[in-house]
Amino acid sequence: MKTANCPKHGEKGIGLVCTHVAFALIRRERVGFYWGDDTDTVRPDAWCSECEKALVALNGASSEDWFKKVKFKVLCAACWDEAKAVCHQKRCMIDAVPKHFLSNNYLLSEGREFVTELRLSVWRYRGNFEIAGVRYELGRERFVRGDFTIFAERRVLARATKPSIFHTCFQLQLFGRNLVLHQHRGGRPTFILFESNREMGRVFQRSVFTRRACIELPDEWPITIRIFIFWLALVIWNWEAG
Ligand SMILES: [Zn+2]
Ligand SMILES: [Zn+2]
Repeated sequence: MKTANCPKHGEKGIGLVCTHVAFALIRRERVGFYWGDDTDTVRPDAWCSECEKALVALNGASSEDWFKKVKFKVLCAACWDEAKAVCHQKRCMIDAVPKHFLSNNYLLSEGREFVTELRLSVWRYRGNFEIAGVRYELGRERFVRGDFTIFAERRVLARATKPSIFHTCFQLQLFGRNLVLHQHRGGRPTFILFESNREMGRVFQRSVFTRRACIELPDEWPITIRIFIFWLALVIWNWEAG
């Protein structure tokens, strides 16, 4: 099988991606990610949503012109995996809607299923919710510099450290992995969760005009942990809103 010498990952098998995905990997934009079933390289050919639309529109006609527009670029397998993590459009996993205009609370739902009400205390840095009869407390261990935690049944389930009071970023240890939740500047309010430089998911407000938010985190993670990460973003958004 073909290999390439990647400046970042060394000698590796390859996969081809459309030019838009290749640039999106650099700019960290989510342009969609579709792939074929080729088996002559370690990763199949992949392309963005626009290229997918053009491919579908061919409706079985010759794909010669399509190939010219796609301008496939060679990536090493590790870069291909990273491009997939960056570009793949996931559905809105958990939808968070303010309970009503004046309320701090959010109603969370996954698909059409109601999950829970996230109640935020008038005391900054406190909240709670219930799932399957268990009450989960969100809070800060010490008033100013303590870790942010989720607590249930007398134990801390996860914690996040805010290493600097000036930077809106949290360090988390989850499932034995080191993760960083980083506020993304520009566009709609967004926090992105990274492992090393790989995006694991994000939490964002649907626009700058609404508090309605979307929680897109790996759905194999417990929902309680995903709500905890959403709450960390809310702490900052509410704090910035005064
Ligand atoms: Zn493309
Ligand atoms: Zn690489």
